[in-house]
Amino acid sequence: MKSPYFQTEHELFRQSVRDFLQKEIAPHYNEWEANEQIPRWAWQKMGEMGYLGLCHEEKYGGSDSDFFYSLVFLEELARSGNGGFSCAISVHEYMALNHIARAGSALQKEKYLAPGIAGEKIAALGVSEPDAGSNVQGIRTSAVLEGDHYLVNGSKTFISNGFYADFITALVKTGDGLSLLIIEGDTPGVKRSKLKKMGWHSSDTAEIHFDNVKVPKENLIGSEGMGFYYIMDSFQLERLVGGVLAVGAMDGMIGMALKYMQEREVFGRPIAKYQALRHRMADLMTEVEASRHLTYHTAWQFVQGEFAVKEASMVKLHASELQKKVADECLQVFGGYGYMEEYPIARAYRDTRAGTIAGGTSEILREIIAKMAIDDVKYATAYK
Ligand SMILES: Cc1cc2nc3c(=O)[nH]c(=O)nc-3n(C[C@H](O)[C@H](O)[C@H](O)COP(=O)(O)OP(=O)(O)OC[C@H]3O[C@@H](n4cnc5c(N)ncnc54)[C@H](O)[C@@H]3O)c2cc1C
Repeated sequence: MKSPYFQTEHELFRQSVRDFLQKEIAPHYNEWEANEQIPRWAWQKMGEMGYLGLCHEEKYGGSDSDFFYSLVFLEELARSGNGGFSCAISVHEYMALNHIARAGSALQKEKYLAPGIAGEKIAALGVSEPDAGSNVQGIRTSAVLEGDHYLVNGSKTFISNGFYADFITALVKTGDGLSLLIIEGDTPGVKRSKLKKMGWHSSDTAEIHFDNVKVPKENLIGSEGMGFYYIMDSFQLERLVGGVLAVGAMDGMIGMALKYMQEREVFGRPIAKYQALRHRMADLMTEVEASRHLTYHTAWQFVQGEFAVKEASMVKLHASELQKKVADECLQVFGGYGYMEEYPIARAYRDTRAGTIAGGTSEILREIIAKMAIDDVKYATAYK
C-alpha cells in the first residue's frame, strides 16, 4: 500500500488540479492582487471544473467525494501561491455554503447552494463583528421576526468575500439564542465597504452594516437558536481546512526556495551548496512533513465521522504557526530579492500572517486544546 489515505484516483486528481491551476489560474494572480478582486470568470471556471462542490451533494451539482479529494484540492490551491484566492474559495465552499449544505432547506439548496457550486453566486460567512471576534457569543447583530420576514440590524467586520458576495451566511441574535440567516448582498439596507489589508489582496474583505434589512423567514438556516452550535460545529472543518491550506502554502514556499538555491550563485557556487542553507531547508521540510501527517490523520478522523475538536485545533495551530517560520526562513534564502514585490515569496510572506488570526486565533486554539486535555472538557456535534 502506497499511502493509507490516497488511492491512485486521488493522485490523478492532484495532477489535474495542479495543471489546471498552473495553466488557467496562476498566470492571473498578479493582476488580481493589483485589482484587489477575483473576476467572476474565475469563480465560474472553478465551478465548471467541479472544484466548488467537491464535498457537496450531487443533486445540487457537487460530486460528494470523500474528504481526501478536498484535501488534495486545497493543498494544490494553496501551493499555487495566492493566499487571497485560497481564502476566497475555501470560505465560499467549506464555510459559507457548508452551512446551507448541512442544515439548509431544499429551497435554500436550490436557490443558493446549487449556484454557489456552479460558481455563479459568491458566498461569504458573516460571524465576526467589531466588538466580537474570538467571543462569538458576544455578537450583537439582531434579527427580529416580524410576520413573514426578519428585520436585521447591526454590523459585521473582516468578512472575506463580503464586498462582492451575492449572499452572506450570517450569524444573528434571535431572542436569547443565535441563528444563521442567508442575507442577499443587494437587499436594501445592506451597506458594504472594502477593508485595506496587509496581504490576501486578491480577496475582498468587508465591513457590512445592516440597517433595517428585511430577510424572508424562509432564509433561516436550520432551526432558530441553533446558529451558535452550527458555527461551533463547523469550526472543526474550518480549522482542518486552515491547516491543509497552510501545509500547501508551505510546500509552495519551500519549492520556490529550493529552486532559487539551485539558480543563485554567490562566491562562484550555487547557494544550494552552502550547508547553512541546506540544513535550514532540511529542518523546515522535516517540520512541514510532521505537520502534514497530523493534518492527514485528522482528515482521516473526519472521514470516519469523528468529531475531532482537539486534533482539528492542533492542526490549525501547528500548521499556521509553522507557516510563519517557513515564510520567514524561505524569504531569507532569496536575500534582497525576497524583499522585492516582483518575487512571489514576498507575497507568500505577507499572506502567511493571516493564518494564525482568521478562523480562530492561536490563543483560542490553545485554550480549546488545554480545556480538553487538562480539564477534560468535551464538545458535542450539533448534528446527531
Ligand atoms: C484576513 C481576515 C479574514 C477574515 N475572514 C473572516 C470571515 O470570512 N468571516 C468572519 O466571520 N470573520 C473573519 N475574520 C475574523 C477573524 O475570525 C477574527 O479576526 C478572529 O476570530 C479574532 O477576533 P478579533 O479580531 O475580534 O480579535 P479579538 O477577539 O479581539 O482578540 C484580540 C487578541 O486577544 C486574544 N484573545 C482573545 N480571547 C482570548 C482568550 N480567551 N485567551 C487568550 N487570548 C485571547 C486573541 O487571540 C487576539 O490575540 C477574518 C479575519 C482576518 C484577519
